[in-house]
Amino acid sequence: AKNSGRNRYCYFTSSLQHTAVSRMRLSGDLRSALEKKQFVVYYQPIIELATGRMCKAEALIRWQHPVHGQIEPSEFIPMAEQAGLINAIGDWVFLQAAQQVKYWRQKIDPAFQISVNKSPAQFRADNDGGRNYWLGYLEELELPGDCITVEITEGLLLDTTERVKQVLQEFRGAGVQAALDDFGTGHSSLVYLKELEIDYLKIDCSFVNNLASRSSDRLLCEAIILMAHKLGLKVVAEGVETRAQRDILLEAGCDYAQGYYFSHPMPPALMELQPAASTRA
Ligand code: C2E
Ligand code: CA
Ligand code: CA
Ligand code: CA
Repeated sequence: AKNSGRNRYCYFTSSLQHTAVSRMRLSGDLRSALEKKQFVVYYQPIIELATGRMCKAEALIRWQHPVHGQIEPSEFIPMAEQAGLINAIGDWVFLQAAQQVKYWRQKIDPAFQISVNKSPAQFRADNDGGRNYWLGYLEELELPGDCITVEITEGLLLDTTERVKQVLQEFRGAGVQAALDDFGTGHSSLVYLKELEIDYLKIDCSFVNNLASRSSDRLLCEAIILMAHKLGLKVVAEGVETRAQRDILLEAGCDYAQGYYFSHPMPPALMELQPAASTRA
């Protein structure tokens, strides 16, 4: 129980007080945050386990609030969804990531890829406009679809499944790959694996946390990896914090890993200082 408590709050590090009043003020601030250029995108390396190479990164948004300091996405993404701001923010993140991957492909690695998160609320709002803006951005930047992987993240709801399917098909047609995020948690289950055509499965960090100390967690990870491979999917393990966890995952045949053991999320300028071919292996 202690451990699951830790997992539940593992992204919950903001110093804000969670009162109704502070939430209301914040969602007011959120409305102008894009315009005031208070968002930044951090990148976290994704490592190919067999080679130790950083071949991808995940784009993770941060809000630099003038009073509260850096606010975590787990705090303001749900607010943005409620306030109807998530698509404006999500499209902005995508554009940053696309420009970044274009630059890194020229400068560091011609095959580099960036993963961008997309919540079900973003798919739902797509429905109104009926236009897939992300593909438009790729065209404008003259980028091939294989630059980007879309991660279907947090809170996938059944009533959006049809729309998600349709958008994923559009992406697939353009060469954009898809990942199922947080696999194994309530939001991301076998149903979606059955319904959606995806390329990657991301094992949630709650399975990885106690990988080295709990044999049942190890068995679960091994079984998820086997199942994913049988379905023709590649596996990314999230929240890898120790060498022991990395070793077990490598032995179990996991394809990619991401976590503090390799690197924290960081600003793009710092990413460029990472030796592309020799992250901690
Ligand atoms: P996620 O997509 O599951 O992202 C992984 C989270 O795990 C990130 O938290 C990352 O900083 C954290 N993490 C990485 N390595 C480790 C590790 O070794 N140990 C632990 N304990 N945590 C690790 P972050 O950046 O706070 O993001 C939280 C969530 O916010 C993301 O979860 C994602 O669902 C959402 N999010 C972030 N950026 C965006 C965005 O641009 N759009 C949307 N829709 N959601 C976003
Ligand atoms: Ca993600
Ligand atoms: Ca995740
Ligand atoms: Ca998550």
